[in-house]
Parts: sequence; structure tokens; C-alpha cells
Amino acid sequence: AQVDTLDIVVLVLLLLGSVAYFTKGTYWGVPKDPYATSALNGSATKKGSRNILEKMDESGKNCVIFYGSQTGTAEDYASRLAKEGHARFGLNTMTADLEDFDYENLDQFPPDKVAFFVMATYGEGEPTDNAVEFWEFINQDPPSFSENSDEKPLGNLKYVAFGLGNNTYEHYNSMVRNLDKILTKLGAKRIGTAGEGDDGAGTMEEDFLGWKEPMWAALVQEMGLEEREAVYEPVFSVEEREDLSPETDTVYLGEPNKNHLENSQKGPYNAHNPFIAPIAESKELFTVKDRNCLHCEIDVSGSGISYTTGDHIAIWPTNAGLEVDRLMKTFGLEEKRHRVISMKGIDPTAKVPFPTPTTYDAAIRYHMEICAPVSRQFMSTLAAFAPNEEAKKEMAKLGSDADYFKEKISSQMLNVSQAVSAVHPGPWSAVPFSCLVEGLNKLQPRYYSISSSSLVQPEKISITAVVESVRVPGAGHVVKGVTTNYLLALKQKQNGDPDPSPHGLTYEINGPRNKYDGIHVPVHVRHSNFKLPSNPSKPIIMVGPGTGVAPFRGFVQERAEQAKRGEEVGQTVLFYGCRRSSEDWLYKAEWDEYKKILGDKLTIFNAFSREGPKKVYVQHMIKENAKFINDLLQQKANFYVCGDAAHMAREVNEVLGQIIASERGVDEKKAEQVVKSMRSSGVYQEDVW
Ligand code: FAD
Repeated sequence: AQVDTLDIVVLVLLLLGSVAYFTKGTYWGVPKDPYATSALNGSATKKGSRNILEKMDESGKNCVIFYGSQTGTAEDYASRLAKEGHARFGLNTMTADLEDFDYENLDQFPPDKVAFFVMATYGEGEPTDNAVEFWEFINQDPPSFSENSDEKPLGNLKYVAFGLGNNTYEHYNSMVRNLDKILTKLGAKRIGTAGEGDDGAGTMEEDFLGWKEPMWAALVQEMGLEEREAVYEPVFSVEEREDLSPETDTVYLGEPNKNHLENSQKGPYNAHNPFIAPIAESKELFTVKDRNCLHCEIDVSGSGISYTTGDHIAIWPTNAGLEVDRLMKTFGLEEKRHRVISMKGIDPTAKVPFPTPTTYDAAIRYHMEICAPVSRQFMSTLAAFAPNEEAKKEMAKLGSDADYFKEKISSQMLNVSQAVSAVHPGPWSAVPFSCLVEGLNKLQPRYYSISSSSLVQPEKISITAVVESVRVPGAGHVVKGVTTNYLLALKQKQNGDPDPSPHGLTYEINGPRNKYDGIHVPVHVRHSNFKLPSNPSKPIIMVGPGTGVAPFRGFVQERAEQAKRGEEVGQTVLFYGCRRSSEDWLYKAEWDEYKKILGDKLTIFNAFSREGPKKVYVQHMIKENAKFINDLLQQKANFYVCGDAAHMAREVNEVLGQIIASERGVDEKKAEQVVKSMRSSGVYQEDVW
């Protein structure tokens, strides 16, 4: 049969159409910037295998360092172990986010390799968000490994373990403790001791440093390694891109991910993809000049973000201009701050912690934790790049002598720029930018207990945040919290306050490419288990001094609304504490409004610590009302504590034990058990930090 020209054209078009359909654009897509990282979380693409053994084989690794991290510290320790393992002992290391892999084949882990687990414990002994799936898997009885169903399926696995915890919590370091037990039971062999770092005692860093030396010694023995002189090797290549300028639309100027760079923002919004939310309203809650507490209303309408009363909202901060400038000056980056750079891992398993191409300025301002306390180990690393021999010696001493470091650096609460400048004014231009990116944490969003009720304002999230400002005794400087001072600046701007740069701190309030203009802030919501009883007629007792009252404002707001709607509301008791009724009594007028609605269903006990001759704290008020509390508990009241983990929450726990002992006539041990079982059954809930 004859085929005419029109037929050919139609056939060719059909063919092209099918190729287009089946290749989904792979063949004609515009080539991407070869250096651009494209994952939503701003790190290297997560494509590829979830098979860790395959990944290690492909990249020639014999040591994987898994991390379960919530605030970035465990991740940072994992990177530091990876670097040190390679530099000092020639291990071929990689770090691995626990959520990026599957664990069915852990039973085939080769005996000549080693796995590290750096595990933070979160909240009430829970895994961090990224460790949840791994934790569920390993806690099966027995875990469903792919091949080995022996008694000891992990007989070949050698592992190293370090935990990050806080001794003020009941389940101190329970993740590493339990993991260690499980792995041992499954036949795995631990190398060195299972280390424990304690944030509660403020010794995390020293615990880590103290643990790792004997661990390395044990690992050297076990794997027949040899220590060599550690020479700094950059993890990332940094290429200055003359072909790009900050105006180029593929250059990240602080946008959190590709989505934000290329589109107007798009959900779902989560820990990798914040929503740039308008702040609908912000105001000061304290009446004193020298302290600030902010109330902000964050508008999430249209974002698809939902919350329930008791959840947390994360605020993604921006560093203060003063600190960005200080770092630039210290490390000789001032001149080139707006130059465009592309970064990538020299080793394919290394992830750049922010999207590139970007500028030095944007990376530092939006992605690097530049104000945090500098670590002793990082001072050692920086010694190699000191401007002269004297400074080098001093840095090495600070790095190796814990007491000296404490006296000169940590007691003065110095950040990296301040610490390094105290040794030598600089500039420390020889420090590779990669070294700064490796040594400083990724700038972390900060969490806030939502202080509104989702029943009353589902699309507007309230936060109650005290502005962090710590005058360092004898040091002559004030440490300013990153996020809360940024929020303060936003509030000043929003309200047209005369001092738009509080305490000399200025911010890029309009954000990258003016995307935060009109007072916006990047946020995401994290769901929590801190919840009102589903039955509103159940009594509740809430203990929340200071900003610990935040979620309880939401609880009471919710119960007032339920009462308005004609529902039966149970006894709602709040123990609140602050310094003085005239200074820092949060939501003073609002409580009266709730009282009008809830009547005798709402009881508020106030403890003012600086009004009388004696300091009165919530713990005292609780003790004074022992019978009342015990009666409510016997009527199945839920008991909630929110706020300071280090002192208040622990003392409230003790006082409750004492109340139960005295009111029920049982001994202290028994009373302690009662409190424990209240906790495990969810009757006693904590939201502490
Ligand atoms: P950061 O910069 O994180 O500094 C915090 C502190 O670290 C400083 O005050 C200082 O003590 C120390 N520090 C900082 N830099 C240095 C340095 N160079 N050397 C030594 N020490 C240093 N807070 C609230 O106000 N309201 C809430 O409702 C609330 N809810 C929370 C809920 C949860 C689940 C969690 C985990 C925390 C909550 N927080 C709340 C605390 C909040 O997340 C922040 O930690 C707090 O606001 C401080 O953040 P920041 O960025 O301003 O300070």
C-alpha cells in the first residue's frame, strides 16, 4: 500500500508523542546546572537505593555512621566521626540518615565492615522523627530480616553506639540503651562502650570527646587499623562561578529548596519544605523594658497546614546581620560575600547541607548555625589554618585541654567567630569554606508550643516566645538567641516600633528575593502527643510557669469554646508562675475572660516568685493544694507539665509523688510507681525543653 506524506507526518507525530509519554521528558529536558542539588531538603538528591549494603559497596565504604537526629547535633557528631575515622584511621566512611535506608538486610552486613549508630533520644524516650521507621523495624520480635532467621541474625554485625540524651528526662538516653540491648540480643558485637552524652548536665560535647578516644582504640584493635597523622581533607568542593551572578534565577539566595526557588511555594509543608507564612499580628506581652516575650499570630490559611491543640510549630530563623558580618570578617569572606558558589560532596555520599549554586552570604545567613557555642574539636581542626604559629599553638591547646577551653571559651559563651578572634584578630582567610560548612551545624528551625486552640482558630497559630538574651558574667557581651531576636525584629517592624533593629541586630527581614516581604516567616508544624483528653468533661491539671503556659492558653481557650458551644467541661486547673504580677504575667487579662465563660470550672493558682519575702514557685503552690490535686487525680484528671525541663518539671514530678504518698498514705516508693504508671498510661504528659 502507498503511504502518502500526510500519513508519514501523522505517524511521526504519533511516534514522537509516544516517546514523549514513555520517557517522561528525560530526553528533551533542559540540562540542569550540573552542581545544583535538587532535593526538597536542600541536600543532595535522595534518588537511588535504599539498600545500604549496595550503597557501601558502590562507593567503596567500610564504615557507615547512621544518625537519628532531631535538632542536628547527632547528625553533626556523625559527620565528625566520619571525618575523623577517615582522616586518622583510613576508614572509608559515610554518614547515613536513618530514614534513607531499609534494614531487612542488616543480617548480611559484612564482618569486615562496621556500623555506627549515633542516636538522640527525643521527648519521653522516643526516637527522633527520622529514626521512627528504623525503630519500629528493629523492635519487631524478631525483626523481619531478609535471609537470616537464626537466633542471632546479626552475628556478623560490628557496631559502635553513642547516644544523645538529657538526664532531666525520665527516659534518659533510652534510645541508645535500648538499641544496644536489642543489637546485642540479635548477636551483633559492640565495639567500645555505648557512649552517653548528657545535654541536661551541659556536658554533651565533653562526654562525646571523652567517649570517642577509647572507642577508636577498641576499633583499631578489632579491625586491625593503623592510626596515621590526620591531615585535613575537605568534604566539599567549592567552585566560584564566574558564569553566574546573584541575579541569575537559578541561584539560591536563601530559598530553602528548589520548590521555593522555581515556583511560588507549594505544599505539602513539612520539615523539609517550610511555608512562608504571614505574621498576622505580633505584640509584646511583658511590661518591663529589659525583657521581652512575644505573642505572634501566624496565618496558615490556604497552606493546607493543619494543627491540633497541643502541637508544635517550627520557626525557620535567619541569622542577624551583625553575626553574618562578624563571621565574614573573621574568615576573610567580606569581599566575596555575594560571589556565586557551587558546592558538591567530593565523595558522592557527602551531602551539601544547603542547595547550591548560592552565595557565601546566603549560605551563612540562612543555613549555617554561626552563633552557637563553638566545639573544642572544631578549634583543633581550625588550628591548621591559623594565621601564625603562635595562634596555631593556642588553638591546638584549646582543642586538647578541656579545662583551658572551658576557662577561655565556653565559660565566655563564645561562638566560632568570637572564639577564633579572641586567639588572633584575623582574618583567618586560610580556612577553607568547606571546613566552615563541615564544622558548623545546619541552621535549625526552633520549635514552639502552639498557644492557641485549633477549635477556635484553625488557620491562625499563636506562639508565645520569650526573647533569649543572656549577659555573660565578666565577658562584657550578651548572647542573643537566633530565632527569638529575629522574631522580635519582625515584631518591631510590623508595629512600626521606633527601634527596628533591637539591640543593634538587623535582619534581612524581606528574605531572599523579597519573598518574605510584608512580615512573613518560614514555618512548619510538628504534631505532638501532648493532647487534651478527648472527653471535655474530664478534669485536667496543668502546670506551666513562664512560657510553659503556652499550650495551656490553647487548652483553656479550647475548653472555653467548648463551654460556649454547650458542652460539659470538666474542672480545668492551671498552676502558673512568673516573677511579678505587674511585669510578666502572661495573658493576664485573657484569663479573666475565660473565667467569665468557664466560671468555677476554671481555677488558676498563681505563683509570683519575686513579690513576697520568700520565692514562691508553682511546685510550692502544688504542694499547698495537695488534697485538691489528689481528689482530682482520683476523679481521673489528666496531669500536664510544660516548660523548663532542667528544674521545674523534675521538681513537679517529685512533688506529685510526695502528694500521692501523703494523701493516699502509701510509702514514697509506691507513690513513685503511681507517678510512673500515670506517665506510661498518658495521664501524666510533659512538653518540656
Ligand atoms: P538560640 O540561639 O537557640 O540560643 C538558645 C540558648 O543557647 C541561649 O539563650 C544561650 O543560653 C545558649 N547559647 C546560644 N549561643 C551560645 C553561645 N555562643 N555560647 C553559649 N551558649 C549559647 N520557647 C518559648 O519561648 N516558648 C515556647 O512555647 C517554646 N516551646 C518549645 C517547645 C519545644 C518542643 C521545644 C523543643 C522548645 C520550645 N521552646 C519554646 C524553646 C525554643 O525552641 C527555643 O529553644 C528558644 O526560643 C531559643 O531559641 P533562639 O533561637 O532564640 O535561641
